[in-house]
Order: sequence, then C-alpha cells, then structure tokens
Amino acid sequence: MPPPVFRFAPSPNGYLHLGHARSALLNFDLARRNGGRMLLRIEDIDTTRCRPEYEQAIYEDLAWLGIAWEQPVRRQSEHLALYTEAIDRLTRDRLIYPAFESRAEVARLVAEKDQAGAWPRDPDGAPLYPGAARHLSAEWRAQKVASGAPYALRLDMAAALARAGDLLWTEQGEGPGGETDKVPARPEQWGDVILARKDTPTSYHLSVVIDDALQGVTHVVRGQDLFWATGVHRLLQVLLGLPQPVYRHHSLVRDATGQKLSKSTRSTALRELRAAGLTLADVRRLAGIPES
Ligand code: GLU
Repeated sequence: MPPPVFRFAPSPNGYLHLGHARSALLNFDLARRNGGRMLLRIEDIDTTRCRPEYEQAIYEDLAWLGIAWEQPVRRQSEHLALYTEAIDRLTRDRLIYPAFESRAEVARLVAEKDQAGAWPRDPDGAPLYPGAARHLSAEWRAQKVASGAPYALRLDMAAALARAGDLLWTEQGEGPGGETDKVPARPEQWGDVILARKDTPTSYHLSVVIDDALQGVTHVVRGQDLFWATGVHRLLQVLLGLPQPVYRHHSLVRDATGQKLSKSTRSTALRELRAAGLTLADVRRLAGIPES
C-alpha cells in the first residue's frame, strides 16, 4: 500500500491564525501517525489579495509549529495553464457558460428577486446566481467575448447534475450538523458557481480538485467551513475524471464570542502569539490539538 498523502493548503492573503494551526497540526499528526506524506500547497490564485510577505510568514509559522513538509511546495499561480485545460474540457462538454453581468448587476438582480420572495443563498450565505446567461445564444456569447467584455465562466449546474447523477463522499470527520460516513453531495446548494473569470483562468473549487488529484492527495483534512463546498468538489471530480480522496472536516477554533477566527484579527495570529512568548505546547492547547 502506498503511504497516505495529506496536505495543508493555505492562501497567502493574511497571517495564519490558531484555526490554521489546528488544520496544519491535525494534518501533520495524522501523516506522522500513519506513516504518511505531508504536503504544503500555496493557494495563491487571487493575485489581488495574495502577497509574498504572507507566503513567507506561512513558512515561518509552520516551521515554528514544528511541522515539516515535502519540497517542492506547489504554488497554484505557477500552474494556470493546467486549469485552463480543465476549463477547455468543461467547455467542450457544454458544462460551463460565460455570464457577462458585473458584480453590481448581479447584486441588483438579487435585490429584484428578493422582492419577489427570499432568493436562495448558498451555504456561505451568498445569493445564488440570479441571471439568465445560460440561455444566451452561441452567437451572442461569441460576439460579447470577441468584444473584450469581462465575463465569469459558470458551471451549468443542471447539466452537470444530469451528467454526474447522485454523488456521495466519504467523511471521516463530521459536518456542522453531525454528518459523517457517507455524505450525499448537494452541489446544487451553490447554484451555477463561477469556475473561472476572463482574467483569472481558475477558481478555488477548480484548482483545489485538480491539485489534490495531481498531487495524489488521499486525505483532505480541513475546517468545517468547507464542508458543503465538498459537494462541488465531488461533482468536479466526476466531471473531470479525477479520483476522490476521503475527507475529514474538523470543528473550527472560535473566539470568545463564538465567531470563527478571521485573518484580520491580530490577537490570534500565530506570529503575534509567538512574539508574545507562547510556546508550541501553548499553541497546541489553544488550537485544541494536544501533543500526541
Ligand atoms: N485555501 C483554502 C483556505 O485557505 C483551503 C483549501 C482546502 O483546504 O481545501 O481556506
């Protein structure tokens, strides 16, 4: 049996906090205990928010946590051509379409829909795509694209579901409602999700499934805030012919008011805790991962 493969996949758009420490330490401990491999992946496709100093801080913080990872580190921004190939495949399969509304137009459409009754929200609370771009003619689309108009490439969820049928994923952790074992994927909760934009040839959902497959990741261990996104990931795995890892979603570290931690709160940033003189044992305790 090849060794299990774990990964920690942060985005360098802020400093890591105790919640990240919890994820990274869980992955590292599981890899160590099971004779597995530990990978680090930098999810830096959002060039407007990612910064080199945050990436540098990730390496420093993880080293401070006593975590060792394999080299080379995969940086998603260096593999954009690969994501474009997947987009081309989904285009050929008629599973994605360009939508040309600006963010403001989408917001206006949602407000309109809300007046006619509460328009559905995704598990993160964002409104589903309210537009009708799916029904634009091929000529109109081609003309708009040729004119240089910005667009988002959206998954045609109805077509994708018809193609993939009912899906499950294997959950070794627990969802927010106690879901475990075999969890029915419900990607339709997200509507016609964006998989790429004119200027960014990928998205979190697309690159995460491609990279997990390409890196041979067998175990995805991450926070419960990504639990329902797994439905979209499972769907994309089927549409792109990729293998499925098993998932282990863990509970989140919360602040004193019960909110999940944010990258903009300084008090729980690992570098602040380090500067304040906390030890690794302290951080493990605060992250809820006592030394194994
Ligand atoms: N890059 C994502 C984040 O920082 C995590 C991706 C994942 O673990 O699937 O939230």
